[in-house]
Amino acid sequence: MKILVLGSGVVGVTSAWYLAQAGHEVTVVDRQPAAGMETSFANAGQVSPGYSAPWAGPGVPVKCAHWLLMKYRPFVFWPMPDPHLWRWLVQMLENCTSAAYDRNKGRMVRLAEYSRDVMCALRDETGISYDDRQRGTLQVFRTQKQLDAISGDIAVLRRYNVPYEVLDTAGCIRAEPGLESARHKLVGGLRLPGDETGDAFKFTQTLAGMAQAAGVTFQYDTSIRRVRADGGRVIGVETSRGLLTADSYVLALGSYSPALLRPLGIHLPVYPIKGYSLTAPITQESNAPVSTIMDETFKIGITRLGDRVRVGGTAEIAGFSLRLRKPRRETLEHSVTDLFPGSCVASEAQFWTGLRPMTPDGTPVIGRTGLENLYLNTGHGTLGWTMACGSGRVLADIISGRKPDIAHEDLNIFRYGM
Ligand SMILES: Cc1cc2nc3c(=O)[nH]c(=O)nc-3n(C[C@H](O)[C@H](O)[C@H](O)COP(=O)(O)OP(=O)(O)OC[C@H]3O[C@@H](n4cnc5c(N)ncnc54)[C@H](O)[C@@H]3O)c2cc1C
Repeated sequence: MKILVLGSGVVGVTSAWYLAQAGHEVTVVDRQPAAGMETSFANAGQVSPGYSAPWAGPGVPVKCAHWLLMKYRPFVFWPMPDPHLWRWLVQMLENCTSAAYDRNKGRMVRLAEYSRDVMCALRDETGISYDDRQRGTLQVFRTQKQLDAISGDIAVLRRYNVPYEVLDTAGCIRAEPGLESARHKLVGGLRLPGDETGDAFKFTQTLAGMAQAAGVTFQYDTSIRRVRADGGRVIGVETSRGLLTADSYVLALGSYSPALLRPLGIHLPVYPIKGYSLTAPITQESNAPVSTIMDETFKIGITRLGDRVRVGGTAEIAGFSLRLRKPRRETLEHSVTDLFPGSCVASEAQFWTGLRPMTPDGTPVIGRTGLENLYLNTGHGTLGWTMACGSGRVLADIISGRKPDIAHEDLNIFRYGM
């Protein structure tokens, strides 16, 4: 089958790879000059099934109010008269119940665990490397209250047989010796030994190269303007380089997905949640992280990527703005210099921002739509790289008429009642 994949972020590229592996003739279209240039460019580097959880949960609205008042705030909100934003926020609030949290976390863990296994198989089969490490993640707590609050998450980890370790301060330092000088700031941690780390951009670019070698065509510098439909199916995609046609279409445009779907009568609840990262060379090895540390207080991930440190976090609601704001940089700098002083020169780090394509229930949208030959693979939010290989594989199985390895019906857009 001839398939057009719209978007060459990590989700579009993994989709293209697994579709090509299934024997389809695949073309990927993107407005950028190369793969992975937008949100997949400099994320926090975690492949973290154990840490996958929706942001909407019980008590989150109150926590958000508290976060807004912090000096180094993990959450920033610029109210805008955008009806899509307010509708999305209402849907997010509706997901802040215990029942919704458990359901959504269960879906995310199922997909993320599967995705990590698919990624391992990809590594074994192809030898792909991307500054990857398989040394788990460690969530560190600075207060007893934070440590006491993990029982709900542990219950879900147990339900899905995800290995975990609850550590005291000494245990945290054994896992991450670079934390030694921050010993007195920590009360303990939750370690997820099955999690992995790596550079999502290197992964995306390398996999795109491998896909090209396997016959996938990449059409870059091409803006997608409109998806044309007729008679219940897509008949082509209007681009800056003319009309492109195929038998089936996969939309993987990250935060920009809803705008192209709205004219088709498909209302996808995805909103951009802006995040920031810093990347700096390691200056002192003994003080550097060996894997990913999640600083629970500031909701920041600090990751080892080869000879660099990546510090990523912040949830900012600011529409599609990509403005680099200095206070956000200060929060990232504070977290890394507080936990790993001397590991890098944070003030000289490369500063970046990207838009997480967030759904109100935290789960991506994967699968068929009301149009016969249009499929979605988008809305991966906070953990798009973690879920990318599994999402691409599940979608390729659906399109190829094969039964995916995991339950998938509750991942498609029909869960929103459309
Ligand atoms: C600060 C931060 C930290 C993060 N940390 C992690 C992490 O540690 N682990 C993890 O798993 N995830 C993390 N994420 C999330 C992850 O990066 C995203 O979920 C993922 O990159 C989304 O991939 P995507 O392919 O859906 O979107 P994108 O990478 O944004 O790809 C979409 C593509 O569509 C193209 N496009 C859009 N509109 C058009 C158009 N009209 N015409 C042509 N092309 C178009 C874009 O050019 C882009 O290439 C983080 C995100 C941020 C911002």
